[in-house]
Amino acid sequence: MAQVAVIGAGFVGLSCAYWLMRDGHSVTLYDAQGPGEGASYGNAGTFANYACIPVNNPDVFRNIPRFLFSSTSPLRIRWGDVPTLTPWLARFLLSATPRRYGRSVNALAQLLSRAFEGYREMLTADPLAAFVRERECLYLYSSAASFEAAQPALALRRSLGVEFETLARSEIAQLEPGLAPLFAQGTLFKGSWFLSDPRGFLQALHALLTQRGLVHRRVAVETLEPAPSAVKLIDSAGDAHDAEQAIVCAGAFSARLARQCGDALPLGVERGYHVRFPGTANRISRPCGWAERGFYMTPMDGGIRAAGTVELAATGAGKNADLLRLLTRSAQEALPGLPEPDSDWLGFRPSLPDALPVVGASSRSPRVIYAFGHQHLGVTLGGVTGSVVADLVAQRAPALDLTPYSPRRF
Ligand SMILES: Cc1cc2nc3c(=O)[nH]c(=O)nc-3n(C[C@H](O)[C@H](O)[C@H](O)COP(=O)(O)OP(=O)(O)OC[C@H]3O[C@@H](n4cnc5c(N)ncnc54)[C@H](O)[C@@H]3O)c2cc1C
Repeated sequence: MAQVAVIGAGFVGLSCAYWLMRDGHSVTLYDAQGPGEGASYGNAGTFANYACIPVNNPDVFRNIPRFLFSSTSPLRIRWGDVPTLTPWLARFLLSATPRRYGRSVNALAQLLSRAFEGYREMLTADPLAAFVRERECLYLYSSAASFEAAQPALALRRSLGVEFETLARSEIAQLEPGLAPLFAQGTLFKGSWFLSDPRGFLQALHALLTQRGLVHRRVAVETLEPAPSAVKLIDSAGDAHDAEQAIVCAGAFSARLARQCGDALPLGVERGYHVRFPGTANRISRPCGWAERGFYMTPMDGGIRAAGTVELAATGAGKNADLLRLLTRSAQEALPGLPEPDSDWLGFRPSLPDALPVVGASSRSPRVIYAFGHQHLGVTLGGVTGSVVADLVAQRAPALDLTPYSPRRF
């Protein structure tokens, strides 16, 4: 059995640790932060096994005027950052052309169809099962026209095996009486569920793995040096460590480590926000997404979390007060009487332009394996990614074709 270094303690890193330890490997986790402090902290917590349609779908071109000029647009660009963003942005838009989009949808659907297998066994552990809420996600359309416009994407989902039910206004009111009667149509996705506290889930997983022998070094990895017999890691304190395998799961911060291993990957960041309305979780029973406004309201342990939006900007830029206001105002419109939020959060979705993660060995050495770039779906796809990474380390054939996620596809 191997000594494996896992870099990053988010959904992807901890799922990799789970599956690797299940195979009997000794795992050392490297992260200066605690479990679930990155993007894995503040997301909407949905197990969205239906979400095979990327943000950059062909409709993006039709919607550009709205994105640019509407005050309720959930997609924003920070104009000052455009020169730096342009190379990624150009590839992002190119991936929305029909042929490339079709490839991404199929490859996402392939991963999503196996997503639950990645968690099934993990969720039999009591401390983890306690965070799972088996309530299907409801996606809502406030205008009949946008529901109409969504039909091709919904038909495509159905053709790829996604099961959903369409709800009329009165059925939405019956299912979620706390919602304002704003929504003309809804879709209820079968087999989806949510977590009552994503970070709490990861803390419980981390505790479980620690009992089984996981070692967590609270340092960042600065340098990865693959050699024929081992990978050398230099940490932020300047100390060196050897591992037989290293798994790069550093989310939005993975590109630098990949470059050190011979791969210049176009990893970008889709910034997203949440606001929390304390003590309100009983107002709805499930994640309710508002399609036109690009966010979910999820009833979490501390209150409703309104999470979503996409902002294209440098990671170092400050929070966008306008988007936080939009999230707050939209949630208050959908759920009248919500109080003012008591906290907000900005997180970095790690996104490749084709909306697919990178899962595979580095160019320089099979001892370094990448597992990052899960964009809007890292909660959903963490488990299956971990199981595939364990297959690669064990040199077993994975249950799915990994070609679409190859680091060499760019
Ligand atoms: C607003 C919002 C809503 C979302 N909603 C959902 C949802 O409902 N469902 C869903 O499936 N997904 C959702 N997502 C996406 C999901 O949160 C991410 O895809 C996922 O958290 C990515 O997980 P990760 O483990 O790759 O990265 P992260 O959680 O960011 O973890 C990376 C870790 O690596 C560490 N790290 C970075 N650099 C180094 C280094 N050099 N050395 C060591 N450690 C390092 C960081 O400290 C961090 O802990 C949402 C995202 C956002 C922003």
